[in-house]
Amino acid sequence: MADPKGFLQHGREVAQSRPVAERVKDWNEVYVPGSLLPIISKQASRCMDCGIPFCHNGCPLGNLIPEWNDFAYREDWTAAAERLHATNNFPEFTGRLCPAPCETACVLGINQPPVTIKNVEVSIIDKAWENGTVAPQAPERLSGKTVAVIGSGPAGLAAAQQLTRAGHTVAVYERADRIGGLLRYGIPEFKMEKRHINRRIEQMRAEGTKFRTGVEVGRDIDAAKLCKRYDAVVIAAGATTARDLPVPGRELGGIHQAMEYLPYSNKVQEGDYVTPPISAEGKHVVVIGGGDTGADCVGTAHRQGALSVTQLEIMPRPGDERSDNQPWPTFPMLYKVTSAHEEGGERIYSASTSHFEGDEDGNVQWLHLTEVEFVDGKITPREGTERKIPAQLVTLAMGFTGTDQDNGLVEQFGLELDARGNIARDTSFQTNVPGVFVAGDAGRGQSLIVWAIAEGRSAARGVDRYLAGTSDLPAPIRPTDRPLTV
Ligand SMILES: Cc1cc2nc3c(=O)[nH]c(=O)nc-3n(C[C@H](O)[C@H](O)[C@H](O)COP(=O)(O)OP(=O)(O)OC[C@H]3O[C@@H](n4cnc5c(N)ncnc54)[C@H](O)[C@@H]3O)c2cc1C
Ligand code: SF4
Repeated sequence: MADPKGFLQHGREVAQSRPVAERVKDWNEVYVPGSLLPIISKQASRCMDCGIPFCHNGCPLGNLIPEWNDFAYREDWTAAAERLHATNNFPEFTGRLCPAPCETACVLGINQPPVTIKNVEVSIIDKAWENGTVAPQAPERLSGKTVAVIGSGPAGLAAAQQLTRAGHTVAVYERADRIGGLLRYGIPEFKMEKRHINRRIEQMRAEGTKFRTGVEVGRDIDAAKLCKRYDAVVIAAGATTARDLPVPGRELGGIHQAMEYLPYSNKVQEGDYVTPPISAEGKHVVVIGGGDTGADCVGTAHRQGALSVTQLEIMPRPGDERSDNQPWPTFPMLYKVTSAHEEGGERIYSASTSHFEGDEDGNVQWLHLTEVEFVDGKITPREGTERKIPAQLVTLAMGFTGTDQDNGLVEQFGLELDARGNIARDTSFQTNVPGVFVAGDAGRGQSLIVWAIAEGRSAARGVDRYLAGTSDLPAPIRPTDRPLTV
């Protein structure tokens, strides 16, 4: 156990953010570099090493949190990183981007602010990289079996790393020009600098994983060819089909899906463009959708020099505290102030877009909205509340409906879908086609990075057993596992 009195002596402290006026002028991560390490040992000491560590239950990866808290308290970064990697291939991704369901499940959270698990996680892994202890782990011998992984997001990368280390020869096929899925194109640099992905890719290459970018399975290479060439396939193609807003005026110029808008700013950071082809500069921006993707549009628009940024959410504003029907240790729906929200803009809740109005050139200028309320379980407009707000750039961030079905991937493999339109799989993550497995958002539906990594690891075990008859790889989750809810 860390310090038995740690939680009595120290309050919760989190990573310090850079001043808003400074950080909106650049794209670097919002945190003050190096500010975390001096406080992390004290923060880790708040962990009570609970008899029943509920943090484990909160984390889909089953992270060994009290164990690495103890090592972090003692500043034994090598041992801490070894425990961290025992359950998570990419703690630098989750340590920066995870909403930390472990913290909402932390026992200390019953009557005190919970342990800063996520900050401890990222400190351990950053220190391990700095110390040079994150080495490639190439397999001792090869199995002679080959695996194709389709998609290079966190699910595909986790599956590929596990399978490579188990001795199989793995090639990752990615339709984009760079590896990383939504980590690369979607999540902005100010949330996670892409150097963290590049470093992992280097490690994976050194272990033996092969990467093929610019290849869309279904279009550039068909399923039959892939199945012939490889002994097993893992589909980790994400849930990239975006929900649309079919209201009058949707066809106007200046209205884009969030995932048409966000990747351009990632590409500017990569040096592909000088200025983004879709930009918020000098415009009144409206972001429709109150989730993480919406917040990323808000932060991006601030950095591009928007005149104003308004975020609309159809649901009512969540509370600041847990409600009675969301008790500890469930993951509560709370009012969240992300770094992008700290930087400015307005949030309007219980608002529904009725239509868009454009100028004579066919570009959007106004968004008409109505306040809504729930009547008999149905979203109903409140009479007399219609108004319009200026909107010269509108981004739609209303979620994703499932995996891409336009490229022939689902059809060519002959895959069955489940009732929610995701690729169906059995308890070993195998689809209805023998030897073809599915992991991440493609099978689970739109979710989180931590679930994608857990899915990739679990599917890898399914593949390993399929190829070798037995497997020592861990399977942290079952396909049906869901976050702790009431
Ligand atoms: C803007 C945005 C911000 C987010 N922020 C967060 C966050 O802060 N924290 C968090 O936990 N989660 C966040 N999420 C969710 C998270 O990114 C996803 O749940 C996660 O990336 C899913 O991982 P995946 O590997 O299943 O799929 P993806 O990351 O979507 O990767 C799928 C990959 O497959 C490729 N692909 C698809 N079809 C083919 C094909 N036929 N051939 C070859 N390649 C193909 C795609 O190009 C893509 O690169 C965010 C999502 C978005 C959109
Ligand atoms: S629940 Fe909280 S206090 Fe208990 S072991 Fe986990 S992190 Fe430590």
